[in-house]
Amino acid sequence: MRDRLDTIFAPATAPGRSALAIVRISGPAAGDVCRRLTGRSPPAPRRAVLRRMHDVQSGEALDEGLILWFPAPASFTGEDVLELQVHGGRAVVAALLDALSALAGLRPAEPGEFTRRAFLNGRLDLTAVEGLADLIDAETRAQARQALRQLDGALGRLYDGWRQTLLGALARLEAEIDFAPEEDVPDDLLDIVRSDVSRLSAEIAAHLADGHRGERLRAGLTIAVVGPPNAGKSSLVNRLARRDVAIVTPLPGTTRDVLEVHLDVAGYPVTVLDTAGLREATDLIEAEGVRRAHSRAEQADLRLIMFDGATWPDLDPATLSLVDEAAVIVVNKCDLTVLPERFSVEGRVALPVSCLTGAGIAALLEALAERAKQLLATGGEPLLTRARHRAALQAALEALARFSSAPGQSELALLAEDLRLATRALGRITGEVAVEDVLDRIFAEFCIGK
Ligand code: GDP
Repeated sequence: MRDRLDTIFAPATAPGRSALAIVRISGPAAGDVCRRLTGRSPPAPRRAVLRRMHDVQSGEALDEGLILWFPAPASFTGEDVLELQVHGGRAVVAALLDALSALAGLRPAEPGEFTRRAFLNGRLDLTAVEGLADLIDAETRAQARQALRQLDGALGRLYDGWRQTLLGALARLEAEIDFAPEEDVPDDLLDIVRSDVSRLSAEIAAHLADGHRGERLRAGLTIAVVGPPNAGKSSLVNRLARRDVAIVTPLPGTTRDVLEVHLDVAGYPVTVLDTAGLREATDLIEAEGVRRAHSRAEQADLRLIMFDGATWPDLDPATLSLVDEAAVIVVNKCDLTVLPERFSVEGRVALPVSCLTGAGIAALLEALAERAKQLLATGGEPLLTRARHRAALQAALEALARFSSAPGQSELALLAEDLRLATRALGRITGEVAVEDVLDRIFAEFCIGK
């Protein structure tokens, strides 16, 4: 991490030809940059003005564009920020960045440095920073909604509220330690603290028991397509993707690896995995494909089990054994066989489809959307979205459990230590307690305009 007092600049828009490009400058020299680039002082705060920009050294005009001035502390980073909106031609942007590089005291920002400064200046907590990264990466409406909520601070406020409750309980205990260090904790005081802690523990446990919805929504729901060779799995994946991603051939066992297709199913992110046919492999490469298929299918959130309708009503016994509660079942090639409109396999509703004609595909997508909604829909409460949050919450919960199970006569200092550990674990999530390598990892996710 370079010096925080440097003034940094970076394009905020993606590289390449576009109508407009935005370049931001943040730090103590931002106002000076405005004077040198435009020959005039920064405009009134947060008002767009049209100005001509010049290269300071050559005097050559760079572009005419809008300038916005956000004086500290009411800016994204909390520092003086100058925002330049110029035309998005590659040469315009390159010349502007060259002109900025030539100014003394200015350097290009490192990945995530604007956001890092916003965090260090208290403009965003760590969960909001993660929400911002997720919002930029969001590919579906549901993902964007969750990310925006996290950016708004809903998750941070929840964790901070818990932390404040613990700090209050800790203060009570510590006052007692200062007052009578040698004595046991008075029962009534301990009762109050214990009841606070048990209420909090229950809330944290309920928050953790979310079926990984927030994390799944962030990463996308994975669905493995499994079934006997030649059932039409690759054809289905192609249909869903509406482009040729898997090789479809009439020879069994041609899908040698796992192929992925990312779909937006009614606003929910879904990754469909096409797995190699579940059959005895005849060569080594295929055996590897089969092994990977099995392992991906096992890890998937959901299985889409496909039977070959050409053999109806005889169905592959190995595939039949995979049918379970959670699976979505389809019987393909309904163009070859007349299948009843509503029927079941192993007592589970099955959908007739034809990957050749497209029949039944719309109903299948509806069924997948329904399932995605069941598994990913978020209710009123903000959800944890990362393994990092889960690990810290579990650590907090363990410390609270140690506190709660300690015998009544325990030493105050030991009891207080467990509360302190829990408080610290919660503080790590929001960044109240900052750990440098966690920060590095989080801010490295931002690299817009690079
Ligand atoms: P996979 O081994 O399960 O991935 O099966 P493929 O997608 O490679 O398909 C195997 C064969 O079945 C190919 O010749 C496809 O053209 C054919 N096929 C796939 N779906 C249908 C369908 O709905 N109807 C008919 N008649 N043939 C299909």
